[in-house]
Amino acid sequence: MKTHLALKKLVDIGKVSCVMTENNDGLHSLAGFKKDTLFEFQGNRMTEYCYKCDSSVMRHFIINDAIRKCVACGSNLSSRITKGEIKKLATKAMF
Ligand SMILES: [Zn+2]
Repeated sequence: MKTHLALKKLVDIGKVSCVMTENNDGLHSLAGFKKDTLFEFQGNRMTEYCYKCDSSVMRHFIINDAIRKCVACGSNLSSRITKGEIKKLATKAMF
């Protein structure tokens, strides 16, 4: 976790613009990266996501199935691991 916090500090002081990771353990998110400074190629096993209204919920456990509903719109939540962030990366100018 020290490394994740050190990377977050580099982003906070402007030395690094964003972090891309293939880790899906959610530790980068727990370190406090803002949504537009962290790209998780494989998704995140601890975040449930609503593909209808684009909201997300960070859990403190690994998500195995989608049985919960989005509090904002009532749609089914799913793990980000299923779709990752490839589409997000493809549509964002990175450099
Ligand atoms: Zn929703």
